[in-house]
Amino acid sequence: MSTIKSAEFVKSSSRVEECPPADRPEYAFIGRSNVGKSSLINLLTNNGKLAKVSSKPGKTQLINHFIIDHTWYLVDLPGYGWAKVSKTSKAQWKKMIDRYFKERENLTLVFVLIDSRHDPQQIDLDFVNSLGLAGIPLALVFTKADKNGVTKAQSSMAKFRKVLKKEWAEVPPCFLTSTVSGYGKDDIINYVREVNQSLAEH
Ligand code: GDP
Repeated sequence: MSTIKSAEFVKSSSRVEECPPADRPEYAFIGRSNVGKSSLINLLTNNGKLAKVSSKPGKTQLINHFIIDHTWYLVDLPGYGWAKVSKTSKAQWKKMIDRYFKERENLTLVFVLIDSRHDPQQIDLDFVNSLGLAGIPLALVFTKADKNGVTKAQSSMAKFRKVLKKEWAEVPPCFLTSTVSGYGKDDIINYVREVNQSLAEH
């Protein structure tokens, strides 16, 4: 069964030291602003209001922890690529995120969300490459598959993979999702379950 039974907000932290105890596997979600991250988190957790949809730029940037089925943490990270954000805010975001990635010992995997309507965007490629270089396990989630149809979405996903293939020995797992139809939801939940299971066995 690929349904999440319980999802509870734990806390919002402005620094990695304030995060909850690192006592279970943790999966972070991040992407460009407006990519559909809040909608996806709400879809995955069957909760229309867990993550706040369309938060405004310039708001305090926080690391938001949720506990899922009492077994793993889902983390909603502040997104990148806001058009009207000051250099200072961007630098603060980078510092917080870099430290979170480097120091959060139970971080299991980062889901990087990418809008499936566009051809590969440099800002996303740069972000994905920076995680790869830092050796952080990641998976790509291509969002809004319903907007221009699944065929177009699959083709943007293929283009993105093709760019990565030039430099990456192995392209990370990729998922295609729509929060309108629910497409891809089970695949992501099952993937998290598989990774959790393999962690438990080792
Ligand atoms: P966030 O800023 O990344 O958290 O993005 P939101 O979840 O707030 O979504 C941004 C906008 O895209 C909102 O208007 C959502 O309703 C819309 N959206 C998000 N996911 C989908 C999707 O899968 N399909 C469609 N058609 N719209 C979506």
